[in-house]
Amino acid sequence: MEGALTARDRVGIQDFVLLDETTEVAFLSNLQKRFSKDLIYTYIGTSLVSINPYKQLDIYNKKLMELYMGVNFFELPPHIYALADNAYQTMLTEFNNHFILISGESGAGKTEASKKILQYYAVSCPSTALLNTVRDKMLMSIPVLEAFGNAKTLKNNNSSRFGKYMDIQFNSQGDAVGGHILNYLLEKSRVVHQNHGERNFHIFYQLVAGAEDDLLHQLGLERDCQHYKYLTQGECAIVSSINDRNDWKSVKNALLTDLHSVQHLFGIVASVLHLGNIQFGSDSKARTLTYSLIMIFPLQLLGVDAHSLHEGLTFRKLEAKNDQVLTPFTVDHAIYARDALAKAIYGQTFTWLVNTINESMENKDPSKKTVIGLLDIYGFEVFYVNSFEQFCINYCNEKLQQLFIQLTLKAEQEEYELEDIEWEVVQFFNNRIICDLVEEKHKGIISILDEECLRPGDATDLTFLERLEEKIGNHPHFVSHKLADKMTRKTLERGDFRLLHYAGEVTYCVVGFLDKNNDLIYRNIKDVSLQMNIFLSCEARIAFSIRRRPETVATQFKSSLLKLTEILMAKEAWYIRCLKSNESKHPGQFDEALIRHQVKYLGLMEHLRVRRAGFAYRRKFEVFLKRYKPLCPATWPHWRGEPADGVEVLVQHLGYLPNEYKMGRTKIFIRHPRTLYATEDAFDKY
Ligand code: ADP
Ligand code: MG
Repeated sequence: MEGALTARDRVGIQDFVLLDETTEVAFLSNLQKRFSKDLIYTYIGTSLVSINPYKQLDIYNKKLMELYMGVNFFELPPHIYALADNAYQTMLTEFNNHFILISGESGAGKTEASKKILQYYAVSCPSTALLNTVRDKMLMSIPVLEAFGNAKTLKNNNSSRFGKYMDIQFNSQGDAVGGHILNYLLEKSRVVHQNHGERNFHIFYQLVAGAEDDLLHQLGLERDCQHYKYLTQGECAIVSSINDRNDWKSVKNALLTDLHSVQHLFGIVASVLHLGNIQFGSDSKARTLTYSLIMIFPLQLLGVDAHSLHEGLTFRKLEAKNDQVLTPFTVDHAIYARDALAKAIYGQTFTWLVNTINESMENKDPSKKTVIGLLDIYGFEVFYVNSFEQFCINYCNEKLQQLFIQLTLKAEQEEYELEDIEWEVVQFFNNRIICDLVEEKHKGIISILDEECLRPGDATDLTFLERLEEKIGNHPHFVSHKLADKMTRKTLERGDFRLLHYAGEVTYCVVGFLDKNNDLIYRNIKDVSLQMNIFLSCEARIAFSIRRRPETVATQFKSSLLKLTEILMAKEAWYIRCLKSNESKHPGQFDEALIRHQVKYLGLMEHLRVRRAGFAYRRKFEVFLKRYKPLCPATWPHWRGEPADGVEVLVQHLGYLPNEYKMGRTKIFIRHPRTLYATEDAFDKY
């Protein structure tokens, strides 16, 4: 382990920028060399490339955190702590906002990375007893949200099934004074259906395996996952690497310090399991069977009256003028209503949890604050069968890749041009075209889907597919059914369409697209869920009860991603690019083809080329001078000439050689800003 920790790590090169040649072969060979020595981190300038080792490494502890605190970025071996610290120091020196974008496909290590960063700030930031509570709440939110929002998938045993953006707020002394979480599109469908080899959200298994006998009894639950329909469809309720009993303890502890309504919360979780077990008769009209046996617990736990629940699950209520008409459901409708209720309950509970955590982390310090945002969102995923959920997740990844392109490859090069800095243009694939294909108004896939969802009459998943073929059949990133048939390989099944994403091609099966996008809940089921003592705020209740048709799921998601992009664009970016080392989760296995593919689609070579030819640091002359003039006697306290001249005097005084910086039209550019972060001490000298 020592090798990973000594300051002069001689195994491979610590920063890809320093490679002799910028070829993919050299890149991969450096990565592999380091990986074989358990060195999972390598820089591209100030960005971090991380490769999942699938084994516990002894590189995350308090001693190492302390080692990295306040140390110049390039003086120690690459580490996630260094990036976290560098963002933090820059924020303190320049009083501006930052975000850390963690990207990579499912299972690449994004969530682990975001946890390491949060843990780092929890230890490294100065704190007081008062602030400790905010800090503890932040740390505590991790197991709770993971229990309710993560699940085992085929790609990852702890896969995030929601997107999470967390702002950590700091005061001017650098104390963490508050936090706020925005969550994105929880995969609710998992509550009622899991594919083979996958599980429902962790919390269900934790409750069944870990809850004390008393609690289990109160909730009317058996200590056996096999008993519950919602837990057994994937046929893998028990996973050897997941210890639900232990996890239950940490989740419960985190909840107990946080929440008053824990008991009620578990009641809701249990009620979902009970709901899943309600069966319906197989005659043409639905009837709830074993009504008294099975219904009693959901009724008690949810606090709804028996009549409404029974009616909600078996009849459709239509309101005509002042009259109500009840039509009995078919069995299929009843199952649909039951599942819709379970999803609605779970979704509302998750929202409530996030809100409660946010309240507990609210910043009570009114002084000016700066933030570091942490973005950890579900990664790109391709399964054997891909549905609406994968469509949304992969669209989200397209957006993040677009943000990366906008901020690094595109904006960077445009800036050099604007500033008259000599520059050899680096070509890259711009995935804007795929984002447009999905989200463009009127023409994009989401608009076409919404149109079908709103079209009265005979719209089905298959008519949606027909519309796609009609409207975007010729798009270079859409493979239509007809076209695929002509190709000799990889023909499409009826009901499939294929998108050529930036990260690879994905075949989507349209079945369920309309339903999932509508997320309709029958009127009287909605009434039932409103009756529940569920933790809805007043506003949420009102919003939920509005009769107007709500925006579709995909459109809501699209707007929330647009807002997220705006939040991020206003901040300074740091990147962690996570790579998955192999598909089978084996420790230390380096699957070269798989890694090469990721290096390619993440645009790491282009990132490297731009970085290598470019400048890691740039600031407007005025801003730079104001900030750093105390470092040089000639510019302190006042510089009387042109700002650009003052900047030149200042950087020369700091010892930068002519090839290490360039003066643009309005900005100074520095290749490696080695001395700038050490300014706090330097201030004292003058
Ligand atoms: P993602 O969020 O990108 O889908 P995760 O962060 O959940 O992926 O990582 C998947 C799994 O990989 C983790 O549960 C863990 O077992 C392993 N893993 C990820 N990062 C590391 C790391 N830095 N050290 C050891 N194991 C890791
Ligand atoms: Mg994750």
